[in-house]
Amino acid sequence: MAIKILPPSVSDQIAAGEVVERPVSVVKELIENALDAGADEIEVTIEKGGKELIQVRDNGTGMNRQDAEKSILRHATSKLETIDDIFSIQSFGFRGEALAAIASVSDFELITKTQKSKIGTKVALQAGKNIYVTDFSANRGTLIKVRDLFFPTPARKSHLKIDATEYRAIAQEIMHFALSNPKASFRLQKDGKTTLDYPAVSSFKKRAQQVLGKMSENLLKVQAKSGSIELSGFVCAPGECARSKSHQYLFVNGRFIQDYRLAFAIRESFVQSAGIEKHLHPVFVLFLKMDPILVDVNVHPRKLEVKFSEPQEIFSLIKSAVTASLKKVSSYFSSVIPAKAGIQSLSKQKNNFSSSFPSFSQKNYSSPPSFQRRNTERDLFSRGTKDEQETIESDNIDSLKLIAQVERKYILAQSESGLWLFDQHALHERQRFEMFWNQYKKSSLQIQKFLHPEIIEYTEEEIELLHEYASVLQKLGFRMEFSSDTTIKISETPSILKDEKLRGIIDQILDFLREDMISENALDQIMRKVIEYKSCRGAVMFGDSLQPEEMQKLLDDFQTTQWHNLCPHGRPNHIFWSFEELDRQFHR
Ligand code: ADP
Ligand code: MG
Repeated sequence: MAIKILPPSVSDQIAAGEVVERPVSVVKELIENALDAGADEIEVTIEKGGKELIQVRDNGTGMNRQDAEKSILRHATSKLETIDDIFSIQSFGFRGEALAAIASVSDFELITKTQKSKIGTKVALQAGKNIYVTDFSANRGTLIKVRDLFFPTPARKSHLKIDATEYRAIAQEIMHFALSNPKASFRLQKDGKTTLDYPAVSSFKKRAQQVLGKMSENLLKVQAKSGSIELSGFVCAPGECARSKSHQYLFVNGRFIQDYRLAFAIRESFVQSAGIEKHLHPVFVLFLKMDPILVDVNVHPRKLEVKFSEPQEIFSLIKSAVTASLKKVSSYFSSVIPAKAGIQSLSKQKNNFSSSFPSFSQKNYSSPPSFQRRNTERDLFSRGTKDEQETIESDNIDSLKLIAQVERKYILAQSESGLWLFDQHALHERQRFEMFWNQYKKSSLQIQKFLHPEIIEYTEEEIELLHEYASVLQKLGFRMEFSSDTTIKISETPSILKDEKLRGIIDQILDFLREDMISENALDQIMRKVIEYKSCRGAVMFGDSLQPEEMQKLLDDFQTTQWHNLCPHGRPNHIFWSFEELDRQFHR
């Protein structure tokens, strides 16, 4: 077989595979170029999920005719001269590959004009060939039209997803750029309709509000610095977490990245400060700024992942900063709970409990809340600087008298100081959680042995995961035998799980092992999930009809629970109106 040097058009098409995988990769490269060119107006037009047309118009510097002609050649870049520049690069691009790659797999047209030029330039080519250059009248800036993406490489074209999926990826990508570039306007048109429209704004917060919409009503500010690393941005209030991870935006030096470790750090802060439920995920828009030398953006060809030279420092910075912001949520919760009870005793104790408050910026923050320390909870959820007087003094709740059940969902009660409305499920769940947690803490090593081991079937992937963590699980009291590739035999479990369906419990554990990252406190973390699950499942439901004695029992128990305000999942469990407040409302 004779060795041939591939013609540039073919080698470009091969190289294109690395840069251009889907329509969204084209959009990303073109927007990066527009931003690199200083544009502050960017308009994207898409037809058929980008398969038929991707067009990006910007008002950046534009190119003169000479540069326009060169820009579509491989390794044509204005952004890098020597290899050393790579380590200090501030622009998005530098490889000089994108335009060449895109042009080699599409019907490509570029129209551009600089401020100085009298007339613009148009460069057109198909599949990297038949280059045609001409003068063309244009405004300052650049317009790129990419038609019929992948027409020269049908195999690649056939791998594209349905239009709606490709479109969603593009819209998501534009949101990322928009979040980190508030001063530029972004518009997306899809098949003739405007689907995203973010006019330029003066702050990151305003842009976050444009992009997140309703989810941004109670954003908490995050700001911290450690050495040369700066963190800024927003997280949602704990009660406003989302059911998916799709509203989590993390940027490093302006670039959107996906880093499960850092996302985990943020989630951990929410779990430990607010006890959010397994299926809830914090909404956040966070920006890390650091010396480019500390980040390797080249780890992944599509640059979604980066490598940090100080990962631990960044992890701790994020975790303590988010935790600190969550500590200030009292203003949010006190608006849900406009309570006045216990003003006197709270102000009396103010000094004691600031000193007993554990510092969450120190390393003890990864253990679950200790229910022995009653003041901790107050600090996390009811104590604020300005709103201190607005909070409930939990030691001061006088006895609660049942009034009625409402709609089989709520329990209405009164005390000497006011009216209380409880979410019956959240209330019971909170109490069960505390009870089981204390039980586990006291007797973590009590196990139950089965006369007949339970045999459960799992997929190979699940079995592997359980196998990997078998020794950790054994410390918790689970004894498992791996009898085949798809079954496990369980002969012992912690006694706290008596009467529970093992399958459900193991599913919870698997979920946790799969998604989250196990840290120093693996045992407590796993047990916390298991106990959350158990507390929720056994609790009275929203919609259960309750007997007066049952409700009174819940009310009596409420007075001895330690975290009064929240269910383990971070929702409030009651609303309180003081009589004082009611009198005022009725102008008494
Ligand atoms: P890179 O961005 O890595 O330099 P590209 O292939 O994306 O490589 O672009 C090649 C060159 O074309 C850029 O370095 C820049 O000089 C020029 N260019 C591309 N897009 C634009 C644009 N929208 N406005 C002005 N110049 C552009
Ligand atoms: Mg580029």
